Amino acid sequence: MSTLPILPVEQTSVTLPESKKTIKIRPITVREEQMLIMGAESDVQKDFHEMILQVVNNCIIGENKPILSLADFSYTYMKLREISKGTTTNINLKCQHCKVNDKPFSENKDFQLDKVMKMDIKSVSSIIKITDSYALQLKPITFDVYINHFIPNLEKNIRTLHYLMAIELLDAVLVNDENIKIATDQKKEIIDSLNQTAMNKVQEWFINQSTVYAEFEWKCSNCKKENKVIEVDLPFFFGLV
Ligand SMILES: [Zn+2]
Repeated sequence: MSTLPILPVEQTSVTLPESKKTIKIRPITVREEQMLIMGAESDVQKDFHEMILQVVNNCIIGENKPILSLADFSYTYMKLREISKGTTTNINLKCQHCKVNDKPFSENKDFQLDKVMKMDIKSVSSIIKITDSYALQLKPITFDVYINHFIPNLEKNIRTLHYLMAIELLDAVLVNDENIKIATDQKKEIIDSLNQTAMNKVQEWFINQSTVYAEFEWKCSNCKKENKVIEVDLPFFFGLV
């Protein structure tokens, strides 16, 4: 039996900004392109994001796929966008200052991906120290957590959002350095029992996470004023197809 003469896979090394690990990725295939087109046509934003998660995972070469933090995932996505579709992007942007016929003035602008992608990388421990003898250990915020728990709760009060996320991510409690794993059905009770000072520390942990985001700066051709827009949902702004 002979093997099919398929196009050899081009590999690109990517050093992740947060974990500092190096992974290898390949461009998306036509089959994956079709999956993404289907995902984009869905009315449910979650379908689109889940398709993105699957495609990025497919494009990471190797058997043991690393668990990527949200920042590392976003960075990998942008590199995948670069090798699959190119290093520039054309985006329709709305001016924040002027309107034409009651609608915000909008225009298409070309941007270089490496110019618009910004990173704020912090080394945040998975352990949140509450008192000298009590600490919480949280799982990393992954893209999976982001699409399943963060996006659906975005409309909620930020404190509520962090409370719900803390329940989801709680992994263990450290009491006098003894690591006690917490079962799924016990997580809510642990978080519910925190006082406000402790919850402030949890909230600080969420705010201090590393981020990879896009920053668009342009001068409106209509009113000549400067605009600046920050976007965090990179797959939504930089399509792969
Ligand atoms: Zn304008």
